Amino acid sequence: MKQLELLYDGSSKQLYATENPEQIIIRFKDDTTAFYNIKCAKIENKGKMNCAISSMILDYLASKGVKTHFVEQVDENSQLCRVVRHIPIEVIVRNVIAGSMAKRLGIEEGRVPNNKIYDLCLRSDELSDPLINDHHAVALGLATYEELGEMYAASERINTLLTDLYAKAGIRLVDFKIEFGRTASGELVLADELTPDTCRIWDMATGERMDKDRFRRDLGRVREAYEEVANRLKSALNK
Ligand code: UDP
Repeated sequence: MKQLELLYDGSSKQLYATENPEQIIIRFKDDTTAFYNIKCAKIENKGKMNCAISSMILDYLASKGVKTHFVEQVDENSQLCRVVRHIPIEVIVRNVIAGSMAKRLGIEEGRVPNNKIYDLCLRSDELSDPLINDHHAVALGLATYEELGEMYAASERINTLLTDLYAKAGIRLVDFKIEFGRTASGELVLADELTPDTCRIWDMATGERMDKDRFRRDLGRVREAYEEVANRLKSALNK
């Protein structure tokens, strides 16, 4: 598929048009940002690792019946994906309490709740992605209650599949963020990357962080962690 003009240049990805108006190319960059662009850096090889990790995971989810925007990986840094109308809501799934939830509620990171926790955030850099709830989402016209129900059901299924896949790689899935979109035919699909930039994953044996927290918290060996995740997922999937 031929890559045409650049449509959007984001903090970690670029979007390109293709000859097919229903498909775009997503190119993963080495650039990394945190805290709404306050902290920026280039992490060598991250684009390739994230493209490989996300492609493997989206392929795996599709093989288990999850509807996604992903079509195929086209080169080391790029994926061909379906064009969707994004729903501007971030769904955060938490298996273990960490990050903003731990901070906001004064809970020590690492506590395991009896239930799975689902947070909704409004996608807005200006407002720093504020936490919202179902009623806010409906009031703002972002989604209907029915669509939210579909998003929760898909998120639950994705969490089960991802937790299992990462466990096979010796990795504990702590939390992750996903976004959804509607295709031209109106189908709700997962339309996001699934990479160490958008989740918390801890080594099951050592508890070591293998995700973007290494960058956010200056823990070092960021590139090595992403490479290790890619290698372990490859083995877990026999690729
Ligand atoms: N996350 C993300 N994009 C965002 C906000 C959060 O990918 O804009 C991911 C984040 O990497 C973590 C999970 O969602 O895996 C939960 O994030 P949290 O609410 O704890 O916020 P953070 O501590 O990252 O500010």
